[in-house]
Amino acid sequence: MVRQLEVLKDLDSILEKEEPTKAPLPEKSQCLYVEPLPSGERKNCKNCALWVTSARCLIHDPTLHIPKDWICGYWVGGKPQDTDLKLDIKQYISPSLTGLGPAPDGTACDNCRWYEPTSETQGKCHGLQEKGKPPTVDARACCSRWDQTKR
Ligand code: SF4
Ligand code: SF4
Repeated sequence: MVRQLEVLKDLDSILEKEEPTKAPLPEKSQCLYVEPLPSGERKNCKNCALWVTSARCLIHDPTLHIPKDWICGYWVGGKPQDTDLKLDIKQYISPSLTGLGPAPDGTACDNCRWYEPTSETQGKCHGLQEKGKPPTVDARACCSRWDQTKR
């Protein structure tokens, strides 16, 4: 019994010393990193090829009113559609899955919580890693880890 208690004590002290294990940060390629648009605009529905100018999105339920200053994780850079393409989509993607929501200022690295500017046009990203270090990103690039909450 004494021996068992000693073993438990040793185990306790080992666990106390151990740092909690942290998952490594993802790399750019794992987070759909996209370079800045030629216009330099931040991203939202108004510069997504899946947006229809009548305030609807080709991949979401057509009854949803989606203003130009919203965004979701399925953003595809390009010119919005002037008319509904009426794609034969059997099942629209749920907003809870796409992360649909308002983004009045648009999304880009320069308004992301992980961004640390190093010049007017570039900075370091603390939400991703490249060989264990924060990669250099463009101020108006973006990725799926974009987050506007404060650090
Ligand atoms: S909701 Fe997403 S996919 Fe649809 S237009 Fe906006 S950014 Fe593009
Ligand atoms: S700063 Fe934010 S949006 Fe830009 S690459 Fe890093 S996590 Fe993605």
